[in-house]
Amino acid sequence: MAEALQPCCEKARTHYLARVASGITSYPVIKSIPCPTCKRIIEIRVYTRPGAAGESGDPNNVG
Ligand SMILES: [Zn+2]
Repeated sequence: MAEALQPCCEKARTHYLARVASGITSYPVIKSIPCPTCKRIIEIRVYTRPGAAGESGDPNNVG
């Protein structure tokens, strides 16, 4: 079901994520925004603050 984003949508999504990262204080962020170029709906889903926690990191599972 996942469709590849077009370059214009990808750009809009990246731009929006940058705004989220700089302005939003509470996660998760789940939004749908229209692409300014082609008007398609882009789903934005950010469950955790980008870069805050490593993907490898479960502290209870060390060793
Ligand atoms: Zn687009």
